[in-house]
Amino acid sequence: MPLKRKIMKLRFKFSLLLSLIIVFSFGEIKAQNKVLILGIDGCRPDALLEAKTPNLDNLWQNGAYSFKAKTDDLSWSGVCWTGMLTGVWRDKHNVLSNQYRNPNTKDYPHFFNLAKQQLPQLKTYSIANWSPVHNILQENDATVVKHKLTDGLVTKSVIKTLKNADVDVMFVHLDNVDHAGHKYGYAVDNPKYIKSIEKTDTKVGRIIKGLEKRKNYKNENWLILVSTDHGGSGTNHGKAIPEHTTIFYIASGKDVKKGEIKKQVYVIDIAVTALKHLNVKIQKEWKLDGTVSGLK
Ligand SMILES: [Zn+2]
Repeated sequence: MPLKRKIMKLRFKFSLLLSLIIVFSFGEIKAQNKVLILGIDGCRPDALLEAKTPNLDNLWQNGAYSFKAKTDDLSWSGVCWTGMLTGVWRDKHNVLSNQYRNPNTKDYPHFFNLAKQQLPQLKTYSIANWSPVHNILQENDATVVKHKLTDGLVTKSVIKTLKNADVDVMFVHLDNVDHAGHKYGYAVDNPKYIKSIEKTDTKVGRIIKGLEKRKNYKNENWLILVSTDHGGSGTNHGKAIPEHTTIFYIASGKDVKKGEIKKQVYVIDIAVTALKHLNVKIQKEWKLDGTVSGLK
């Protein structure tokens, strides 16, 4: 074979190899980033640590976590869930009670809205037991909104959706732990409150299993965030005291920096961390208060 042809042949082989490398590494980059937020209403972090919760333990022990995170010091569900889902404090989102009288969704919308400004094709899902969390959703923020009357029905719906639907972001709200707190008392030494956390952990386990069974799971890069809106004491909450305002924050997935998060984590970090994982560029004019927590 003449030298010229030999070189040509080698060049061809080399370019073939190069394009293969590009295709494979591009495929790697293209792994779809997705977010699942599990919200467990009224779950005190000390009680979560006391309860037997193998599924949640697996998430935080292999993930990033804080059991000293802080929620809004006006620790009502409406105020705190809105902080979590908008990434700003109540002076901006203006939800000041569970009544959602005058939310400023125009300036501080749900993070689904912010994500869709840059990625309009995103499929966003919100499935909740306590339906007022949906009050801040504007038209088209959520691809699908579902209100279910029990945590069991929420869990069923979430598993079914994860199995069949094209989902990019999902927010899930479970309410039984808060019900147990209001009925029996929010306390580490209250067996009924602890039991409700353990039952919720079983539901979390079923949801995670459902997630892992997704057809395209291998090519998806899920960030799972688990948190709560507030704690409680006696049979209530709403005050600016540590028993009410201390919450837990768990981030699980390939892109988290494992271990305890050293900085102070806040409930408002959840929307911002979710946006970051979805590759949304955080805009200054959004005036978000939260920061990214627990990612590499
Ligand atoms: Zn609540």
